[in-house]
Amino acid sequence: MYNWTIEDIQKDIDYLDEKARKEKDLFKKDKLYQFLENAIYILLQLHLNDIDDIIEDTDIKSFENLIEYYELVPKFELYYPFIEQFVKLLKPVISKYNIYNNNIDSQSLSVFSYNHLMELCKTFYQSTDDEFTNYFEKLYSTNNHIRFKVNNLDITDSCVYNVFGLKKSYINIDHYFNENYTEILGSIVHEEAHAISFLINENRYWGNAIFCEIEAIFFELIANDFFTEQLDNNNFMIQSLNRLINEYYNGINLLKVKELIHSININKISPNLSLKFEYVGDISELVSYVFSCIVAIELCEIYHNDKKEALTILKKIINLKNDESEYANILFLIEPNKSLKSYIKRITNDIKLS
Ligand SMILES: [Zn+2]
Repeated sequence: MYNWTIEDIQKDIDYLDEKARKEKDLFKKDKLYQFLENAIYILLQLHLNDIDDIIEDTDIKSFENLIEYYELVPKFELYYPFIEQFVKLLKPVISKYNIYNNNIDSQSLSVFSYNHLMELCKTFYQSTDDEFTNYFEKLYSTNNHIRFKVNNLDITDSCVYNVFGLKKSYINIDHYFNENYTEILGSIVHEEAHAISFLINENRYWGNAIFCEIEAIFFELIANDFFTEQLDNNNFMIQSLNRLINEYYNGINLLKVKELIHSININKISPNLSLKFEYVGDISELVSYVFSCIVAIELCEIYHNDKKEALTILKKIINLKNDESEYANILFLIEPNKSLKSYIKRITNDIKLS
């Protein structure tokens, strides 16, 4: 039985609270209070989720959003050329395989129990290396690190809640009742990758850690390769293609915002002016997903030829300091978009579309 509840987080909060109160060293005490604040924030989020108070994502067009974009867009200038190239290379593929979230034969979850899915995930991590196997098994031995929630709303969102200071992660797998098992398995692999990386380098996830999707998307993609063979099911390849298509559209949105910001002078815009622009979401999140996907694909192709080399690079990335200047070092470790074409060729090879 896999489950964790709000009470588990409450216990962590009590523990952190007591630890913080007893701490004599003022520097450590301050850090513990920051961790405590973070854990309390998780509790608040969970309370909101549990009463199903879903705030609709509307297309808000407001001056505040524009200001937010104006401040954030320049921060990521280094990465836009790679994103532009990524989108350009993917465009012909998108028009050919317009199968986003489609075309996967629906095999309901009843085929596999949660236990079975966790077993499959374990087999996958065991195929990587000893270090990742050990980290996964550490999590796996704690049943209450993950929970599964069936959700019939039109929003499903799996995520991880990290309790800093305790190196503890709580994974939430949200899925539809009749969602096919390939997607749920993909979500488990993805979220476990975040939890593993949190165990390796807690600091990576503190504050606005923007490229943390690298490890999660990488494991997701190589798991799709692994399960295609193991389970002889090429729906996993469609899933990889869907990830690419998803990041293609994120990239398009991101570039739209970038163009807009490059073309205006914010000081000349009156806050009262009704603006014609579409709010496409959180810029940091978009950059994080698209650029992470670009890096993950390169790692995936390296992994295909030299497993050890790919995992060594990945560990270097996971161990980077949570610092913007450090992120740029990723560009010394991989060459963005170098293998994108061959990757696409490989994954679309097995996909037969009508
Ligand atoms: Zn993620």
